[in-house]
Amino acid sequence: MVIDMNTHTKALKKLLPKAIITDDKAELEAYKDIIYVHEPSRAQLVVRPGSYEEVSKLLGYCDRHNLAVAPWGGGTNLSGSLTPSRSFVALDIKGLNKVLDFSEDNWTVTVQAGATIEKIENYLNKRGFTLGHDPWSKASATIGGAIALDSAGNLYPKYGSAGDLVLSIKVAVVDGRILTLGGPISKSSSSPRMSCLFIGSAGTLGVILEATMKIAPLAAEHATSGYAFSSFKKMFYAIKELDKAGLTPQSYIGGTLPSVAIKLQPKTEQALVKMLGIDSALFIYYEGNAEDVKVRLKAAKNLLSGFGKKMPDKYAASWWENRHTYFEMNKELADENIHLHVFDFCIPKDMVLTAYTRMDEIAKKQKLEKRISHSLFSALDAYTVALYLEDSKEGMASLRRFEKEAISEVHNLKGTIARTHGLGSLYSSRAIIEKEIGKDALDLLEKMKRTLDPNNILNPGILIRGHEDGGKRRS
Ligand SMILES: Cc1cc2nc3c(=O)[nH]c(=O)nc-3n(C[C@H](O)[C@H](O)[C@H](O)COP(=O)(O)OP(=O)(O)OC[C@H]3O[C@@H](n4cnc5c(N)ncnc54)[C@H](O)[C@@H]3O)c2cc1C
Repeated sequence: MVIDMNTHTKALKKLLPKAIITDDKAELEAYKDIIYVHEPSRAQLVVRPGSYEEVSKLLGYCDRHNLAVAPWGGGTNLSGSLTPSRSFVALDIKGLNKVLDFSEDNWTVTVQAGATIEKIENYLNKRGFTLGHDPWSKASATIGGAIALDSAGNLYPKYGSAGDLVLSIKVAVVDGRILTLGGPISKSSSSPRMSCLFIGSAGTLGVILEATMKIAPLAAEHATSGYAFSSFKKMFYAIKELDKAGLTPQSYIGGTLPSVAIKLQPKTEQALVKMLGIDSALFIYYEGNAEDVKVRLKAAKNLLSGFGKKMPDKYAASWWENRHTYFEMNKELADENIHLHVFDFCIPKDMVLTAYTRMDEIAKKQKLEKRISHSLFSALDAYTVALYLEDSKEGMASLRRFEKEAISEVHNLKGTIARTHGLGSLYSSRAIIEKEIGKDALDLLEKMKRTLDPNNILNPGILIRGHEDGGKRRS
């Protein structure tokens, strides 16, 4: 029997009288991935539940009627993780956004999945604590989305990824059950860590409703510093030495700026680049008690001065202050219709410099040598490439050509193309997933998918191949 969406809307309004449900065309348009903003939304219905029971009932209904469901957080992922391969019901989780429990003694917080990172952080800061997950997108990204993509923020070296902070998790699965996995303790060896199944699962196995996370007391002091290097290679070795000396900063970003971007910088900064002979700049951050921060900053200075030159302090201070508004900082570029296309790779440390050379060669082949930048974001293997491209047909075509070769190179070097943001609809073709995680892991993942979501209604086409092949754009 063919049932149109109108029938579903009516049936769901009856089944979930308290949930917000809409099939209004204008509202549906808001439910599309950032990277597909120019395409029409494939959401047919939006449901914003106010309770776990409603999520459960909705999943049961969609499963019975074979309706695809996309669990929707802040909508900030950058890889099309909210674009399943068929039309879908957007399960907007942002109505479930409470902080449920905070323990000053256990150093834990229990939050609902739709709470933004900023909301949780503000709540904790008032009580002298921090979540330790500090992504650039903290104002809009939700904790459910952060766990579902195992996001990594500015403080990754100190606290790990969002997934590393999870102690226990509550998840709704399509057969209507609500599973609680893990407990408020830091360690148990009584079974595999079951909550991990949902970390990085990109909404394909269940809907995260709630999580208990590790928290930490706010640091008493912090300090930043900046260094200029004549090459990326020098910067790489300098960070390596910091790591070896036990001086890994609690946050850092370092990398090159392409000439197309330098040209658009204010005159004073262009002069600084020239004066210090900057090819790569590194900003570092330490936090802790005042004495400790002072000692580490001084030791880092001694070490880094052997590789590069110290920059005026205001640049590093400004980086830290503005770390959540990166895109706004690039207004000069936006004015020139230049947009950043970022590839967050993770490459084995001993291959990062090889990757750097190869990416340069690939960029040169595509005549993008003035438009490529290379960075390390809070870890020696967290190698990121950004292309500064004009938003034009030619720009996009060269991006695709670069991307194809770059992906293949990263896989040759045993790295991943999805350090953060997941594979999404952009990269979820079988060929790429198999290269990313290996055949054995993919087989196991598919078995888990069949167990937890046998009708393939949760984000079909993302990460785990169902009856169709994913890979909306790239393979
Ligand atoms: C300006 C900007 C800066 C960014 N900075 C960073 C950064 O520093 N570090 C980083 O790692 N990422 C960053 N990102 C990417 C993005 O913000 C993160 O991946 C973020 O964690 C996604 O959270 P979200 O709530 O927006 O998820 P969404 O985009 O809504 O969803 C992402 C995926 O998770 C699934 N999902 C969402 N909620 C749930 C749930 N409750 N249960 C099950 N599945 C769910 C969705 O179905 C989808 O597949 C940035 C993005 C932007 C636009």
